[in-house]
Amino acid sequence: MIHVAIDGPSGAGKSTIARMVAAELGYVYIDTGALYRSVGVAALKRGFDPANREQVEAMLPEIEVSLGFVDGIQHVYLNGEDVSEEIRLPEASMAASAVSALPAVRAFLFDLQREIAAKNNCIMDGRDIGTVVLPDADVKIFLTASPEVRARRRYDELLAKGNQVEFEPLLQEIIQRDYNDSHRAAAPLKQAEDAVLLDCSDLNLEQVKAQVIDLIHKKVGV
Ligand code: C5P
Repeated sequence: MIHVAIDGPSGAGKSTIARMVAAELGYVYIDTGALYRSVGVAALKRGFDPANREQVEAMLPEIEVSLGFVDGIQHVYLNGEDVSEEIRLPEASMAASAVSALPAVRAFLFDLQREIAAKNNCIMDGRDIGTVVLPDADVKIFLTASPEVRARRRYDELLAKGNQVEFEPLLQEIIQRDYNDSHRAAAPLKQAEDAVLLDCSDLNLEQVKAQVIDLIHKKVGV
């Protein structure tokens, strides 16, 4: 199986790029952030504080998270319920960031990620794919961009969807999530030693996609 790991901070465009590359190469795209988001949503649904370790740990045996693919698009299920839309709400982002700092949550989601990778040529994106989940991935990419560029893209995206948003809170949320993700003890966001750093602050999607495909061709020759 061919495994491509794409890690990097929130809003760098990992999922968009991974989806485009997967479609072009016929690989399965696995968005691991969706798994953490669904655990965060499970905590919110119970009225728990997602940062409360005791509450979240006690909840884990009661939840089942699974992935399915509908027309090639990943859907995530929480105890059988499709929560793919709900996990995109802003409160789910912060809840995901909080639960993802808990080692028990990371352990809970680890096997699921490994099992899917074992069966498929895949591109998996997240924070710890190249360092923890798939340390033997054929290609590892660390995709990043400045916080301002990432906030600007998210802002434009939300505006285009007709949402009323302000730039500054989005920027602060990105800075806060970067801090949380890279300062936690459990699997912090960091570039794997053998990952290629791709800063896409000044690149458009097509340029990033071309660079990623080029890297894959060079490493795995397909
Ligand atoms: O990528 P996305 O923004 O959907 O991820 C939501 C949150 O889940 C991130 O802020 C991060 O804290 C966490 N996450 C993680 N490890 C991954 C994927 C996501 O800790 N592999």
